[in-house]
Amino acid sequence: MTEFSAQEIGALRRQGIYRQRQKSEFFLRIRLPLGRLTSLQLDTLASVVDKTERGQLELTTRQSIQIHGLAFDTIPKIRHTLEEVGLFSLGSGGKAVRNIVTFYEGGPLAGEVESLTRHLNETFVAKSLQLTLPHKFKVAIGESHRAGLLFNDVGLLPVQREGGLRWQVFVGGGLGSKPHVAQLLPVEVRGGDVSSLLEAILHVFIMKGTLNQRLKFLVQSFGVEHFWELVREEWTVPFGDPVTSPSSLETIASSETVIVDVPDSSLTTVQLYKLASIARRFTQGNIFLTPNRQILLRDILPEEKEALLAELSTVELASPEPIRWISCPGQALCARGLVDTQLRQSILNTLREHRHVWEKIEGISIHLSGCSSSCARPQIADIGITGIIDKQNPAIPSVSVTIGGGLDGEWPVLGEIWRFPVTVEALPTALLSIMENWLETREGQETFRETHLRRHRERGNH
Ligand code: SF4
Repeated sequence: MTEFSAQEIGALRRQGIYRQRQKSEFFLRIRLPLGRLTSLQLDTLASVVDKTERGQLELTTRQSIQIHGLAFDTIPKIRHTLEEVGLFSLGSGGKAVRNIVTFYEGGPLAGEVESLTRHLNETFVAKSLQLTLPHKFKVAIGESHRAGLLFNDVGLLPVQREGGLRWQVFVGGGLGSKPHVAQLLPVEVRGGDVSSLLEAILHVFIMKGTLNQRLKFLVQSFGVEHFWELVREEWTVPFGDPVTSPSSLETIASSETVIVDVPDSSLTTVQLYKLASIARRFTQGNIFLTPNRQILLRDILPEEKEALLAELSTVELASPEPIRWISCPGQALCARGLVDTQLRQSILNTLREHRHVWEKIEGISIHLSGCSSSCARPQIADIGITGIIDKQNPAIPSVSVTIGGGLDGEWPVLGEIWRFPVTVEALPTALLSIMENWLETREGQETFRETHLRRHRERGNH
């Protein structure tokens, strides 16, 4: 078995190559700008995944994909095959600027969001690949805070002003074991100036940041006003040209968008081939992955929607799940995992056995992360589950459970601790009691989060 130095591991991660819990196996992460996959890319991925033992790939909350269970010496050839169709792993892991998250809501500024993402990928992200950073650096762009703008190192929000479109810039957010809500910089920038501003922020991070600490700790220790002063000193080329290039993703008039849940957040070879054929027939050749690990199909002609759903159902992708479930690969595949995220199945079995609950919980979100790295973003779900070590009983697999998180614009955004610790064995029953309690206290057709926020306010919290 090959051993690597810490430096080599860091270099491999920057190329998107991670060692798994099984030391002889690795996974490869591919970044997908805009979360987009073409039919050719889907066919190529299917042929690559077909040769792996697992026969499937995983979706991530940064609109990237991971192929697990690879022998180290097979990775160069796989990367070459994928690069030939425009799929790249460089910068998808380690201390790098990660894939920019772009959240699609289809509102009036969706085209602006897409254009800026493309522009930043070609400018800021491309340049950053040469830089060594203290830690990873995450950027999100969206029409609203549903894009998680407050929980990235930088979040970008478009606003219409008299002089034209401007971008608000939030800095220093992040989830993980110490969540921080990003703070607003006292500036609104034109699209053409965003790239140079991000470069300035990144330079301050490189010069002043501490190795292995995210930007959130730097912003917190300096305070946002002083951090902004430092950025201003570095920001040498403000007032660039506006980003005028139109969206590359023209929408067909009166077409529809279909969003598809992906059970287990993974796609098999058969599903990938089917999606490639669906993209060719129904969607101008593209599919998109969302940060919620769903598939988004655009430009569907209304008269073709039924046929599309029939095609998807042949590979078990058309049925909406009552629970919006996001789970990370967990202990089975990830070296850091503290619990096996396949425990999802035992939770579902318990809920299904209790029909008085199962038949009423449509739309509830459960996010399950194998450890406090929070790759499944448990803090912003109706119910968040995070693998932990219970110091009193370290040998017993345990989790913490939060309730009431969400990105719908209402505060507070982060879920609050419901119980800590809960053993994995007791978890299905614990979740059942959370849902029963919600159904008992719910008013009218309130969602889980609406009930939680109402009760939060009734307790005198704001
Ligand atoms: S949350 Fe933890 S266990 Fe899950 S993928 Fe991230 S690092 Fe691995």
